[in-house]
Amino acid sequence: MQVLPPHIVCNLTNWRHLLTLVASELHPDEYVNLLTPKRHSTLLTSKRTVMIVNRARFIALLFAILTPLWCVVDYVVFPFELWVQMTILRVLTSVAFVALILLCKLKPTRLKLRHTHQALFALFLIPCVFYLASLYLLDVHAVTGIPSIILSAYTFLPFVLVAGLSIFPLSLAENLLLTSIILLVQFASMLLRLHDQSWTNFFSTFWLLLLLAGTSLMAGASQLAFIVALVRQAVRDPLTSCFTRRSGEELLSLQFSISTRSNTPLALAFVDLDHFKLVNDKWGHEAGDHVLQQAAEIIMQIIRSGDMLLRWGGEEFLIIMPDTNIYQAEAALTRLQLAGLGKRPDGENITASIGITERLQDKVGDLHDLVNLADQRMYRAKENGRNQIIIDD
Ligand code: GH3
Ligand code: MG
Ligand code: MG
Repeated sequence: MQVLPPHIVCNLTNWRHLLTLVASELHPDEYVNLLTPKRHSTLLTSKRTVMIVNRARFIALLFAILTPLWCVVDYVVFPFELWVQMTILRVLTSVAFVALILLCKLKPTRLKLRHTHQALFALFLIPCVFYLASLYLLDVHAVTGIPSIILSAYTFLPFVLVAGLSIFPLSLAENLLLTSIILLVQFASMLLRLHDQSWTNFFSTFWLLLLLAGTSLMAGASQLAFIVALVRQAVRDPLTSCFTRRSGEELLSLQFSISTRSNTPLALAFVDLDHFKLVNDKWGHEAGDHVLQQAAEIIMQIIRSGDMLLRWGGEEFLIIMPDTNIYQAEAALTRLQLAGLGKRPDGENITASIGITERLQDKVGDLHDLVNLADQRMYRAKENGRNQIIIDD
């Protein structure tokens, strides 16, 4: 085995230590979630998407109302011709925000990661375009004697945008991308207004913007860390680390709608351990808990990475197998049956009765019917003598 040089080990430990200060609520293997959304679990993605899209819509609504209202102030301070052009720009910006609100109005189950990115990109791009266009108009009209408070309302927009980033639970990559767009816009604005400000002025403003961007980045990352930890606590059963029934039902409904929309198979396997009560009665509850943990671990090793394991009840598990037909599901569960579900304290094998259903094969249009059918087949496996798999009626 290759041993890392001590200075690298030390640097890695320091990084870990630094990360625990920033996101102490995370397990070390969860830090990767803070870097990019690529490794986020389905449930984390769906919770975060709903949160981000709703916040983006709320902010778009505020901007859609406030942007045209400011034309009253413009009317007082700008010449009429400039006022007309600014008002048109403001109305167009407001319309763009309303379009964003309407386009993002999707059912939570239909929201995907790309909707998060589209909503955020639009939310930040619209004010950036407004900002550059308004600076251009102010420059073309070469207005003088405008009260500084009015001008600052325009020049502070990039600061408002960077500060606004902090209300979103964003990963490092997403945050850096949006911040770069705003910084680029700030740079472009500098080129537009080069004649009335110095480079020193520009760099001090840019530095301030960078500091604010760093703060937003930390705020976004710590929000994301909280969500990762909360989702983990809410979705995982503490004994077996399987999905809990409640979170699993959400996953199930998500997978059912994906499978219906894309017309792909979706298999479910209901697994109930045989004579489990005996373990509790004979060797105690702790031995029973250990058997449950063992069984869950073995099932997780056998299933594919895209499959999901739920603890449905005490010693009942449900496996969700997307894009798997009934024969593939049967083959996987047969492998499980052959591997065994662990040992009792006396060394005897733990077995299970298993019922399998598949959405297309069983022609079931309702999610609950699909689960009930798998449950019924599992009961038939019990009646037929246990330790067997049933895949049809
Ligand atoms: P069958 O073969 O018919 O499925 O019989 P069984 O004994 O496996 O099933 P039964 O439904 O009679 O008993 C399930 C037992 O599981 C009863 C309950 O006390 C126990 N149980 C439920 N949750 C837990 C748990 O978290 N830990 C432990 N140790 N036992 C549990
Ligand atoms: Mg049971
Ligand atoms: Mg049982």
